[in-house]
Amino acid sequence: KTTTVPNVDGSINNTEEDDEEDVVDLAANSLLNKLIRQSLVESSHRVEVLQKDPSSPLYSVKTFEELRLKEELLKGIYALGFNRPSKIQEMALPMMLAHPPQNLIAQSQSGTGKTAAFVLAMLSRVNALELFPQCLCLAPTYELALQTGHVVERMGKFCVDVQVMYAIRGNQIPRGTDVTKQIVIGTPGTVLDWCFKRKLIDLTKIRVFVLDEADVMIDTQGFSDQSIRIQRALSSECQMLLFSATFEDSVWQFAERIIPDPNVIKLRREELTLNNIRQYYVLCESRKDKYQALCNIYGGITIGQAIIFCQTRRNAKWLTVKMIQDGHQVSLLSGELTVDQRASIIQRFRDGKEKVLITTNVCARGIDVKQVTIVVNFDLPVNQAEEPDYEIYLHRIGRTGRFGKKGLAFNMIEVDKLPLLMKIQDHFNSNINQLDPEDMDEIE
Ligand code: ADP
Repeated sequence: KTTTVPNVDGSINNTEEDDEEDVVDLAANSLLNKLIRQSLVESSHRVEVLQKDPSSPLYSVKTFEELRLKEELLKGIYALGFNRPSKIQEMALPMMLAHPPQNLIAQSQSGTGKTAAFVLAMLSRVNALELFPQCLCLAPTYELALQTGHVVERMGKFCVDVQVMYAIRGNQIPRGTDVTKQIVIGTPGTVLDWCFKRKLIDLTKIRVFVLDEADVMIDTQGFSDQSIRIQRALSSECQMLLFSATFEDSVWQFAERIIPDPNVIKLRREELTLNNIRQYYVLCESRKDKYQALCNIYGGITIGQAIIFCQTRRNAKWLTVKMIQDGHQVSLLSGELTVDQRASIIQRFRDGKEKVLITTNVCARGIDVKQVTIVVNFDLPVNQAEEPDYEIYLHRIGRTGRFGKKGLAFNMIEVDKLPLLMKIQDHFNSNINQLDPEDMDEIE
């Protein structure tokens, strides 16, 4: 993969891929979220709990001390800077640490503390003196497995004899060696291989089985079946835990197939709303015209930070070059960048090093930069059928009601696209006012 670095004259080489729209890659976005995450994500909703046995008492904890953890584990938690359990952890941890172990399906958006919770469960159930795999965690990609492993290493810093091993492609184990590490994290294919073909892991000895990022997992061909084959070979005493950021029916069906007799915990995400966003549109003749309108808007109002969305990589590149040539400080975020590169661009933007971020749909959702006051749709989001993509529109522009500062959104519309805009307006039952880009007084 190549990166887009403008040539000396500011131009950018175009490739055939440029006409492509960036598709949303769930695993890449999930990793990106982890890389740029700075703190817990809050939710104003209540945690919903569905107990396998509704008559048993429901415990929740407000402190980590109440969990009666091993001293060294508690030290690790505090060393990470955690003061008290997150909302989902308050309910999930007592269930996960209960005797006898209970199975759990938990759903909450990314950043709410799921990983920390199951890492804690694994570390608390592991016996450091026994040198064989006791906890097994399945992750959708190599990079996501590594991220989880880092959390194990950091939280388990004082659990000196506990070690992690990665069952991922490319991690060669010499013939005849045993796996002595207690926690194994890997992708389903390689784990399956290690269990059945190479017999490196005895599944009957696993005490905690974690299936992380179930929604991403079922999105990958073959992973559901492989995961189920692994699960079928576990002992009936093994604790089984499944986590997902979203819960469409397909995830739910998979979860119920793979986790027997589960407790279920859900935390609804903060809904996006267009209520506190003032939306405008500017009628334009051409791409150049759109650019002119953008410049007028840019000059006409004091901008905090802006994100500009384009439909194709080619458009995004074109716009980036134009703006750089006109002396603006902008950066370009598109799908051809590696996840690390994307994370660093978003970090720079967050730090205010650039005021404008130009992007395609790669980061339409999931990445919230709170200080962004302006969103520009340089192109309207449309789907394959050339209908408006309402969901992407909402994700680009919407804010969570709770944290929502007032925002501004501008849609650059070629005349023939006006019907699409009207459909968007009807769909959300919200006003999108026409703006004369020569007359910025209309704003505010
Ligand atoms: P998820 O798995 O739901 O995406 P994580 O477990 O990765 O969430 O947690 C998100 C962020 O919040 C991480 O940076 C993590 O270190 C931090 N975090 C998790 N639990 C707590 C807690 N109880 N207190 C403070 N920070 C926490």
